[in-house]
This record gives sequence, C-alpha cells and structure tokens, in this order.
Amino acid sequence: MKISFFGAAKEVTGSKHLLEANGKKILLDCGMFQGNRKESKRKNEELLFNPAELDMIVLSHAHIDHTGLLPYMTKNGFKGQIICTYATKDLCQFMLQDSAYIQEREVEFMNRHKQELGSEPIEPLYSAEDATEALSMFHGVAYHERIQLFPGIWLTYFDAGHILGSAMIYLEIDDEEEGGKRKTLTFSGDIGRKGLPILRDPEYISETDFLIMETTYGNRFHKFVDDIDDKFEELVKETIAKGGKIIIPAFALERTQEVVYHLNSLRQQGRIPELPIYVDSPLAVNVTSVFKKHPECFDESTNKEFILNEKNPFGFGMLTYIKDVADSKALNDKKGPMIIISASGMMEHGRVLHHLRNNIEDERNLIMVVGYQAEHTLGRKILRGDPIVKIFGKEHRVRAKVAVLDAFSGHGDRSDLLDFVEHIKDPQKIFFVHGEESQGLTFLNILNEVGFDSDMMHTPNLGESFQL
Ligand SMILES: [Zn+2]
Ligand SMILES: [Zn+2]
Repeated sequence: MKISFFGAAKEVTGSKHLLEANGKKILLDCGMFQGNRKESKRKNEELLFNPAELDMIVLSHAHIDHTGLLPYMTKNGFKGQIICTYATKDLCQFMLQDSAYIQEREVEFMNRHKQELGSEPIEPLYSAEDATEALSMFHGVAYHERIQLFPGIWLTYFDAGHILGSAMIYLEIDDEEEGGKRKTLTFSGDIGRKGLPILRDPEYISETDFLIMETTYGNRFHKFVDDIDDKFEELVKETIAKGGKIIIPAFALERTQEVVYHLNSLRQQGRIPELPIYVDSPLAVNVTSVFKKHPECFDESTNKEFILNEKNPFGFGMLTYIKDVADSKALNDKKGPMIIISASGMMEHGRVLHHLRNNIEDERNLIMVVGYQAEHTLGRKILRGDPIVKIFGKEHRVRAKVAVLDAFSGHGDRSDLLDFVEHIKDPQKIFFVHGEESQGLTFLNILNEVGFDSDMMHTPNLGESFQL
C-alpha cells in the first residue's frame, strides 16, 4: 500500500493524504489551503490527483483546512461516500455552506474590479450547489465503532479532543500486495489539549504500524489553561475602565464557544461585571446550535452543567447572538464597554473586518487574539505589531491595544505531542504533517533524542509518496 501527501506538508493548511490499498483510493481529509490568497488559490485549483478516481473520503474533523475542498471534489466528479463522526457531519452542514458563500462573495468582489478594468470575469472555486451535493454524500459514524470500508479495510474513530466531533482515524488494512498481511495506520488529525473545558481529552493510540501526525506546535510550549481566566479578567477590567470595546476575532467553530464558556464562568464567579457581550456571526450561531445537539462529545463537567443542572453555558442574560446584518451594523453606534466576538478567526473575511475597521484606530479599544494566525493573514500582521494595516483595501493605523490569550490553543503543544507518541508501542514509520517546516523538523529531532530512529521519521514534501 501507498500513502501520498497532497496538503499540510511542511505547512498547516490543506490537509489531504491519499491512501492507496487493495485497489482502492481513500483520501484522508480534504482540506483547503488558506493564507496567502494567490498561492493558496493556485494550490486549491491545481489538484495533484483526480477526484473522479477517489473511492472514498474519510474526515478527521470539520475545520475548513480539513474539509473545505469537499465541494470542489463533487464539482470535479467525485462520487463516493464521505465518512466522518456524527458531530462532524452536523457541523459540516453549516461550515461548507458558509465556505461556498465566502467563495462566491470574494469572486463577486473581484469580478466587479475586473469589470472596471475590462478583463474576463473569474469563477468561484465552488458554489453553494456543489456544497449541497457534497453534503448529500456524508455518512456519520460513532466513536469506537469499527466499520468495514472495503474488503480488508476497517476504520475506527478515536476522540482527538480538538473540536466538537474531532477524531483520530485508525485504519486496519489486510494488505493484498503482501498476501493479506495486517497493517495499521493512524492519522491523528489535529490533536487537542488535555484539560480544556467543554471537550473530552484526546485519547491515546496504543499500537499502530504507521502514524501520520500533526505538528502545529511541535516546538512550542503552551501557557497553562488556568491562566486564561486571570488574564481574561485583567484585560476585560482594563478595557472597561477606559470605556472601550473588546473585539475578539474567533473561529466560529469551537473558539467562539470556548470564549463564551470562559466569560460565563468569570461572570458567574463575579470576577467581571455584567456587560453586553455579542456573538456577531451567523455561522457561530448555527454552530452553537450543533453543540447543543451533541452532549456525547462533552467532558464530564460540561455534561453536568448542561444535562444535570440544565444550565446552558452558551446562553445567558447579557449575551446576544446576532445573525442579522442590520443588527450587526447597529453595534457601531453603540457605546462601549462591550465585547464583540466575531469571525473569521484569522481576520481574513467576515463581519470581524467591519468591527476592526471601525475600532482599530481608537486607543481605548482592545483586539484580543485568541487563535492561531497563519502567515500572510491580517491577523498575523496585527499580531506582529504592524503599525498600519490594510482593511478592505484602505490603510488603518493600529491604535487599539493588541493582546494575545495564547493559552486558548486547541492544539496540543510539544509535551502533549511527545506524550502522544510515547504511548504508541513500536511504530514503524512516523510522518509529520500540519506544521510549518521548522515545527516538524524540531519535533523530529526531539523524538530522535528520546530514542526514535531518524530513518523511520519523515517530514514529507507536497506530492511525496511512500510505500508502506
Ligand atoms: Zn483543526
Ligand atoms: Zn487543522
């Protein structure tokens, strides 16, 4: 059998790995490349495989860098099933439609510009109809349920503790090329952190011959999760004293719910005063409704709050969810202090751009960064302290305070990743993906230091294949 890496190779986005075994082609994840617009557009369009030849797609979780190209697959002739956990299936209903909407809107904007210049209009990567078709092929599977995908190929999902519905893909393959010899392959997807609120901790895999694992923070140690509340409290109070607004750009999926969860717990403990909190993102509103449907994914304490105490950690007095554009615009005229949580998380598109444009030049305000900011994104520029940034093509001076709550990461750090690998008995080969090159290479060296042979470890290049 053979594995080829068609995305998230020496970078974070575009997760796509093709397994060829027993005459079948199974794509693990179908993520979109994000970040630098021109380059990611080209990489998304120029696939290194033919979607019509795929027999099946198996997903790790609902983030767009793992699922965002599914509608592009159906547009280009993919006819097989798309396998994922039940919560991932429900989340993708909203995530993929939202992604199609973003594609269509962006092209609309560019075409208006092209028309002025008299050049040919371009087409979106895919449309809402392509997304609807992809969604009709989804098939949900429970955690720990062992299912047969094809003759001699079985799948079991384990909890990855990263976002709602996130899973590690564990495959057992009776390899026909070697007379039916049993081989096991694990794809970690994105590995979460232990002790995060809401979700259960990531599970360990005790044995696998081959491992494909993420290395987003292969060379970084996180702050303790407990620090979140202290710093959050301090920043909120400081901004309230100035009468400013707090803008929190957050991924609609998971990060928004985590931020809301922490704010709720701070106000319940009386550590922050009651102040208006707005979740301004139609996608976040929809995604929060999926959380309410899947308490089976929650950890014990969230489950207790939700089920036994009938308290909803995602809904309380001063919290308003905003779907309507008019209500979103009305926030501009409201005086602070207030908190606005809005997408997108890397400040590349969505309503958060309007809030940034309106608030970034006022020194009373705070921009609170709570998520990973990929290279070349507006978020990365603001985070690294650029004094002037462009929003909707216009330059703005950054006068608002910029603060980072980096303890929020949904990815395990170096010690979590090391702990994960050390629980596996005798792996034969390990592939490091989903991390900028320096992260993957440093993590490889660290494993080498603790006794893993460097010959068995690889940081594959885009398009590289390995016989397993
Ligand atoms: Zn993810
Ligand atoms: Zn990811």
